[in-house]
Amino acid sequence: MSPNMEILPSIPEHKPAIIHVSHQPITLGNWYKKINWLNTTLVVFIPTFGLYLTRTTPLTRPTLIWSVLYYFCTAFGITGGYHRLWSHRCYSARLPLRIFLAFTGAGAIQGSIRWWSANHRAHHRWTDTMKDPYSVMRGLLFSHIGWMVLNNDPKVKGRTDISDLDNDPIVVWQHKHYGKCLLLAAWVFPMIVAGLGWGDWWGGLVYAGIVRACFVQQATFCVNSLAHWIGEQPFDDMRSPRDHVLTALVTMGEGYHNFHHEFPSDYRNAIIWYQYDPTKWLIYLLSLPPLNLSYSLKTFRSNEIEKGRLQQEQKAVNRKRSALDWGLPLSELPVMDWDNFTLRAKEDGSALVAIGGVIHDVELFVNEHPGGKTLIKSAVGKDATALFNGGVYEHSNAAHNLLSTMRVAVLRGGQEVEMFKHRGMEGKQNVFEQITRVEKPPMSAIAA
Ligand SMILES: [Zn+2]
Ligand SMILES: [Zn+2]
Repeated sequence: MSPNMEILPSIPEHKPAIIHVSHQPITLGNWYKKINWLNTTLVVFIPTFGLYLTRTTPLTRPTLIWSVLYYFCTAFGITGGYHRLWSHRCYSARLPLRIFLAFTGAGAIQGSIRWWSANHRAHHRWTDTMKDPYSVMRGLLFSHIGWMVLNNDPKVKGRTDISDLDNDPIVVWQHKHYGKCLLLAAWVFPMIVAGLGWGDWWGGLVYAGIVRACFVQQATFCVNSLAHWIGEQPFDDMRSPRDHVLTALVTMGEGYHNFHHEFPSDYRNAIIWYQYDPTKWLIYLLSLPPLNLSYSLKTFRSNEIEKGRLQQEQKAVNRKRSALDWGLPLSELPVMDWDNFTLRAKEDGSALVAIGGVIHDVELFVNEHPGGKTLIKSAVGKDATALFNGGVYEHSNAAHNLLSTMRVAVLRGGQEVEMFKHRGMEGKQNVFEQITRVEKPPMSAIAA
């Protein structure tokens, strides 16, 4: 049994209930069990110690250049290898490139390809739920680093199919020998290069090894935290992923995360040429002759991408639209017959005007009518459809909009309007349709 489990008193004839340490309240006796000490050593203690060592370790120019270069190599191992190649199969890579990515990815100290990709596939499949291993819904810090330094219940995490990875000998070999790969790629190799190259063994270990890995880790962790926290959602706002140039800058282009979650098998994260996505540029460059190291680069059809973008724009327009007064929906208006309409206008003195089959109460507008009181009063108790639409004056778009806020009833026998009213009841009425606008005034009205 795992040391992280606790047996509760058993109920007769039932198996003892075992509760994972992550679900137990924290106490003086169990707090240390809640920490994943191996991960904490790799992502907190060693990087902190490395940063401390920089106080007494001189940084030479060649070591600085090598550290930056190796930073980009190992970051690409994660973004171009672990993420876009193995987790999402956005493209295919020939053996030398797969070996390079497996090696540099191990140097980023983020677990084996197999472990990383299984988590990442669960993250995409169950984004923002408890089954998402680094769900941002559990807090920004949890999504950034908490999920690694805490002992989480393995039963909570969503399971995914990684059979394709188990058929890749590079992935299987790297997983089996991950400890050795990590030691070599993260610390020994950068130290040997600096040591044999320009005699800076210790600087190579501290800067190109430990400190460089610390920066790569924090940058990659930002994809799980910042990319689900800050930025725009141009393709979908159902879940948390967001696009932001800042996240892209620190993650070699992984910051266009809203696009990525919508189109995960696209080898690009940024689709506009000037957006910063060096991972995409490198994958593309590697596909060119004479290298030909990457191939079958996948892209989603721009038609599908634009559909998503347009739907989001439509949502934004709808939100703005719903904040404005467009008048009562036709479906909510009572139906009034012609006799009742004329009677109320004549005998009650109601300032009712019928336009386009809809009855409007213009009482409060009489004094403000730009065309004067006389004209508007002359329309009371009448069908002013033609007058309003060019018979006397072809009213503006704004006038139609304003008129709609005065509507009080639908005229029985108003034909299309009654039909609209029934359509409106089904929630299909488009508020942008100006019901009072008619294309051509009837001839009789022009003659009048
Ligand atoms: Zn994500
Ligand atoms: Zn992904």
